[in-house]
Amino acid sequence: MNHKKETIWEFDLNIILEYFSNTDRQGPGSPDITLKALSFIEGLTEKSKIADIGCGTGGQTMVLGQNTSCDIIGVDLCSDYVNQLNKNAQNKNLQDRVKGIVDNMKELPFQEEEFDLIWSEGAIYNIGFERGLNNWRKFLKQGGYLAVTENTWFTEERPAEIQDFWQKAYPEIDTISNKVAQMQKTGYLPIATFVVPETVWTDYYALQPQMQASFLEKYKGNRSAEQFIAYQRYEAELFYKYKAYYGYVFYIGKRIK
Ligand code: SAH
Repeated sequence: MNHKKETIWEFDLNIILEYFSNTDRQGPGSPDITLKALSFIEGLTEKSKIADIGCGTGGQTMVLGQNTSCDIIGVDLCSDYVNQLNKNAQNKNLQDRVKGIVDNMKELPFQEEEFDLIWSEGAIYNIGFERGLNNWRKFLKQGGYLAVTENTWFTEERPAEIQDFWQKAYPEIDTISNKVAQMQKTGYLPIATFVVPETVWTDYYALQPQMQASFLEKYKGNRSAEQFIAYQRYEAELFYKYKAYYGYVFYIGKRIK
């Protein structure tokens, strides 16, 4: 048998991507939340263009497709997710307006002022909130909108266990007021922020024990897979313990610079 030699890093990334490929969403989110955020966006027409960055398999992209008449382009680094998005678009008969491409959010292949709206749920942390806001602004028309979710502290102070966990996992995690200040600083008028209800996380975590069991069965004895699942479980455990201190927040801004 011919085994393709994979580096540990490649293998780790592949199992992570595979783990998340079997759900509608690859992060906490729901159609209701996407629609609520969309309700703050004004002036979209059938001539408008939307980019959905870090779109995953396109759960929220389909909601945008079904509730606007815009052209939508989803971008994700993972080709399996993008293929799934394109299949979903076909199934919903949205393929003429909704398409996915494989690319990197750090070097997007777009033109300046190409979009009326940039969307990104549960993904901007991959480039960092402030850097994403800064880098992506040029792709928006003047007066165009940006709508992103970001993991956020709810309180000024936190117990050390959760502070340390997120400080290590995502050092840019911060309070709503500091994130809004970053929006202002990077050239956006803050239009709205709202806290994503915790049920979005609890629903997301509730799916996981079953996914984890079949995943561990498939990768029995594989240390990377086991460590990955242990980390997922720890993250979920911390969430139930400390959900009063942090969660996802939707940030909606309008380009003014
Ligand atoms: N928006 C989707 C997926 C969120 S998970 C949802 O809410 O369900 C984050 C996504 O970002 C994953 O699909 C991952 O493949 C993608 N991603 C990570 N780094 C990326 C990068 N540098 N460029 C583009 N996409 C990236």
